[in-house]
Amino acid sequence: MTKVRRVALAPFANGAELALSIHEVKGNQGDGPTLGISAAIHGDEPTGTHTVMEIARRHGEGGFRGRLLLLPVANPLAFEANRRCTPLDSQNLNRVFPGNPGGWFTEQLADRIKTEFLENIDAYIDLHSGTDRPTVDYVFIHNAEALSRSFGSRILFRAEDGKGGSAFKASTKSVTMALGVPSVTVELGGGLIDQTPYVARSVAGIENIMRKLGMLDGDPVPPPAQIAVHSIAYIRPTKGGFLVTEAPPLGEEINGSAVLGRVVSPYTFAELEVIHSPFERGIMILAHLTTNLVQPGDFGYMVGDMEGCQHLDGA
Ligand SMILES: [Zn+2]
Repeated sequence: MTKVRRVALAPFANGAELALSIHEVKGNQGDGPTLGISAAIHGDEPTGTHTVMEIARRHGEGGFRGRLLLLPVANPLAFEANRRCTPLDSQNLNRVFPGNPGGWFTEQLADRIKTEFLENIDAYIDLHSGTDRPTVDYVFIHNAEALSRSFGSRILFRAEDGKGGSAFKASTKSVTMALGVPSVTVELGGGLIDQTPYVARSVAGIENIMRKLGMLDGDPVPPPAQIAVHSIAYIRPTKGGFLVTEAPPLGEEINGSAVLGRVVSPYTFAELEVIHSPFERGIMILAHLTTNLVQPGDFGYMVGDMEGCQHLDGA
């Protein structure tokens, strides 16, 4: 049965008492590992929270082996503001681990998440997504390739230092990986579109990982043919305005001369910037699927480099 534990953080100057909610579900089918699932470490990525809610609804009666520890909203202040970082101190929670009990508020929050959640799990899934504008679709390979593959996404990213991997030094994964906990980061969903299909895919991926961990009965569904890229370009517009997207669907290949999108002034309608795919052979990982507002430096597109990628056979 589910127990919701409130982990008090601190009283605020406005008198409110902030707390983390951690759901603990003990399986009634026997012993097994404790799987931790976190979401909304970035407050503007609510798709993962929706997924955790659905996992709790489906498994809250405990019909599995082991234990689920669910942290649906890791950064409540950023979540209420629909912001990536904590408004109180402008810190990115996923860049301050292991935290500091006497540091910035976000560092205090990281410290509590470490001691109350990350140090108490045997396997870890961290759910990220696009925001209410771009949509994303890939899974990181950290220290548990088989688990990452069994989530079922087509594109995987083997993060290395200097190519998008260095950020993990101060993320939740820096804590779990130092403890030898198999860790999977999922990036799925986002955008001004219905999130239901992404939530359904996330739930299926998590349940497949639970099968792989022996928590649920049945053989895990073998992963499909997958592509593991070693390098991803983060393409940020340098002009603000309307981003009129021309990118192919996520997971499709794109060559270096192709246009991903154009930034157009919503005032004069002039074309301010044309954004091209940077690799000779790339693959779409993050894109705006609709015409959206962008600021200079926003998440525009992410394209994986197919040069040197690994093709992982499906079963
Ligand atoms: Zn994120």
